[in-house]
Amino acid sequence: MKNKKTAIIGSGFSGLASAAYLAKEGHEVHVYEKNEQLGGRARQFEKDGFVFDMGPSWYWMPDVMESFFNDFDASANDYYELKELSPAFSIVYGKDDEVAIPSDYNELRALFESIEPGSSSELDQFMDDAQKKYEVSFSKLIEKPGISILEYLEFDTIKQALKLNLFSSYQKMVHRKFKHAKLRALMEFPVLFLGAKPKDTPALYSLMNYAGLKLGTHYPMGGFHSLVKAMVSVCKKQGVVFHTNSEVENLKVKHNQIISICVDGETILVDGVIGSADYHHIESKLIDKEYRNYDEKYWAKKTFAPSSLIFYLGVKKKLNKLKHHTLFFDADFEEHSNEIYDNKQWPKDPLFYVCTPSKTDPNLAPKGCENLFVLMPLATGLEDTPELRVKYFKLLLNRLESHIGESLSDDIIVNESYCIKDFKADYNAYGGNAYGLANTLNQTAIFKPKMVNQKISNLIYTGQLTVPGPGVPPSIISGKISAKLLTQHLKNQTL
Ligand SMILES: Cc1cc2nc3c(=O)[nH]c(=O)nc-3n(C[C@H](O)[C@H](O)[C@H](O)COP(=O)(O)OP(=O)(O)OC[C@H]3O[C@@H](n4cnc5c(N)ncnc54)[C@H](O)[C@@H]3O)c2cc1C
Repeated sequence: MKNKKTAIIGSGFSGLASAAYLAKEGHEVHVYEKNEQLGGRARQFEKDGFVFDMGPSWYWMPDVMESFFNDFDASANDYYELKELSPAFSIVYGKDDEVAIPSDYNELRALFESIEPGSSSELDQFMDDAQKKYEVSFSKLIEKPGISILEYLEFDTIKQALKLNLFSSYQKMVHRKFKHAKLRALMEFPVLFLGAKPKDTPALYSLMNYAGLKLGTHYPMGGFHSLVKAMVSVCKKQGVVFHTNSEVENLKVKHNQIISICVDGETILVDGVIGSADYHHIESKLIDKEYRNYDEKYWAKKTFAPSSLIFYLGVKKKLNKLKHHTLFFDADFEEHSNEIYDNKQWPKDPLFYVCTPSKTDPNLAPKGCENLFVLMPLATGLEDTPELRVKYFKLLLNRLESHIGESLSDDIIVNESYCIKDFKADYNAYGGNAYGLANTLNQTAIFKPKMVNQKISNLIYTGQLTVPGPGVPPSIISGKISAKLLTQHLKNQTL
């Protein structure tokens, strides 16, 4: 096949993966990124000696990242050291009530048994089932582009899906097995933080429990951004060209094909485009109405995964009580999820999460200091004002201080906040979403926004708003699928 010139809009994980795979096929690949730094929601910034990852912090499903590197005859180890965290994470259930979640499965069983007698054998069954879901998903489902139901009609896949009850309610599955509120919260948190109320999530996503509790919680030294740097290196080895501070302003269509893109007033001729920026932004701002897959009403009806209020804090002392990952579940789980998904509003009594990566990686903070990332999940589309940020900073700080039993306010030497307005301004994110679309039953597989533009044959969408969904591993897989789809299109065109 003759080399084709392709453009990728955006340099998040989906854009980087699509660029690497397209270049491997021999195409000329240009990545256009509106921000100064590559990596999308996984950018990093440095202030006064503190290095903050701005987005993802849970490195789950390391096999997906490894498989990406293997496809380019490399390994994650060639680029960064991956550490398994022990304990994996910790949950604060109330005053002086904190449970460290062990990385060792036998210790985890013992912990379950101590909280609810008999629950360790239920955990075994749950995990066996979750493992099967993980394996079926990764071997049969996850790399499907979700264009048509026909993709799922192989006898074997249907048989396995039915046997595994992939589409029954996740919450029912958890509640049948575990009665204790602590165990329910522990099992339900991965789906809540990554995108939907447990009762609206299909049981398929118990694969997340398998990923988190059995495959382990890892950490790439240097911060999550090390993964971005490594993927950029892979791309460059394949000949990908990066253009930063380069916002794509418009896609020019002729005879149902994109013929050029406009960047900073310059017209660049292309044979194909992968849109890895937020799907809604590409459709509503870069192409004319007649070429859109979906209108505003469609997006307004979708259930979005949360946005977030984040504080990046540099603290000039060590905080012995904090673990690398600490989840604050010392408030009503149900009420906060209602405030995210149903009666969208700023929460009265929020759950939140604190990441202290300097516990594992001393290079992320000056000596004797601690690097903190405090995140509160929040409904998308809410008003975001400096006053609200200050109000919630005080609230979260109080809860944090009460847990660690010492005052912090005088020791905070870096304090930067990030919320809905920033997600919109930095990433063109619909409603200021942080993690894309929620993983609800009617937003799974073929029900997700389609990867292929139905009217423009050389425009493919990728990333967390399409198949397979939000999170770093799914975004990498999405990029791989999008490269396959565009390559196929370009091949057909040449025939
Ligand atoms: C705070 C936070 C915490 C998270 N925690 C985790 C976690 O712990 N584990 C996990 O697995 N996942 C986590 N996620 C989710 C994960 O980070 C995302 O799902 C993933 O990074 C999305 O990648 P993407 O390629 O779809 O999009 P993005 O990373 O958003 O990339 C899209 C890029 O397109 C660019 N762009 C937009 N418009 C244009 C334009 N017109 N021209 C050029 N460029 C444009 C944007 O600047 C951006 O760089 C988290 C996300 C956030 C925000």
